[in-house]
Amino acid sequence: MLVDRFGRRARKLRISVTDRCNFRCVYCMPEEAEFKDRAELLTYEEIERVTRVAVQLGIEKVRLTGGEPLVRRDVERLVERLVSIPGLRAVSMTTNGYFLPAKAAALKRAGLSGINISLDTLDRDRFVLLTRRDYLREVLAGIGAAVAAGLEPVKVNMVVMRGYNDDEVETFAAQARSRALVVRFIEFMPLDNGSVWNESLVVPAHEIIARVQAVAPLEPVEHDKSDPARRWRFKDGQGEIGVIASVTEPFCGHCDRLRLTADGKLRNCLFALDEYDVRAVLRGGGSDADIAAVFSEAVANKWAGHLINREGFVKPERTMHAIGG
Ligand code: SAM
Ligand code: SF4
Repeated sequence: MLVDRFGRRARKLRISVTDRCNFRCVYCMPEEAEFKDRAELLTYEEIERVTRVAVQLGIEKVRLTGGEPLVRRDVERLVERLVSIPGLRAVSMTTNGYFLPAKAAALKRAGLSGINISLDTLDRDRFVLLTRRDYLREVLAGIGAAVAAGLEPVKVNMVVMRGYNDDEVETFAAQARSRALVVRFIEFMPLDNGSVWNESLVVPAHEIIARVQAVAPLEPVEHDKSDPARRWRFKDGQGEIGVIASVTEPFCGHCDRLRLTADGKLRNCLFALDEYDVRAVLRGGGSDADIAAVFSEAVANKWAGHLINREGFVKPERTMHAIGG
């Protein structure tokens, strides 16, 4: 089992399948990004092998991410392979939604068990400002396609940034309340290329909840402590909201996640400065035991928590798209 020095057991693995993306969100990557050569990315066979070993070590759930996971060709084939691994309880995905009208049904057939779709604004001009792409209509169609395909639960992720989109918190909450959606508000984290994030742009979770409470009565939902979102349901409506307070109320003490980058590096924290090279083992003829040893080392060295907003914080070199959010 993968238990670290602080008694936390790793149960979830986020796997980035590509660092490429068809969007250029300002909080995630620069306009001109450099991408890895395709040969550097793990193949689906390699990802499957690593996941099999991880499951033997106690990983129970996998989330596919990126970059944009749906830009990688036939990603539903990977979903199918992963779903068939004995002992793996769920395979889900985080996506910008653009390709869902074309892909939702295939993902459902492949066995995907839930989808998070990122959407930060319902205003077209703002959407263009935040993503540097004019694709609001396509993303809204993508949410509709995910619901129609039965890819439940469908969760909408909104990164809240003061002055950019925070005045839409109530509108997003109203959507959750009337459409039985799960909307999750995410505090803006310093994982851009250094040109946008500053503390004044972070809207604290307590403020987000107070603002929703002011217009709709909420009650807390019991949740697993390792779930990054604290959850509330509407007393008088459907749907649910969650807040992911990574900056103002870090949940590192209950973290059960590891991350595998698209180029095969294992990271024990979103903000980690060190990485563990699984690809070198895979391509150097290593055994499954050698892969397991890389996992054990990464877990053994996991720190107590990140230091955002505290002395000693060092921003990781990779921006979010290259880590896998
Ligand atoms: N392309 C997919 C998408 O956008 O959903 C998956 C990858 S994206 C890096 C995963 C999640 O990270 C998205 O919900 C995105 O909004 C979030 N994210 C990216 N940069 C962030 C930042 N600096 N702070 C908080 N969340 C961020
Ligand atoms: Fe692409 Fe997702 Fe990053 Fe936006 S948040 S640039 S959609 S990887």
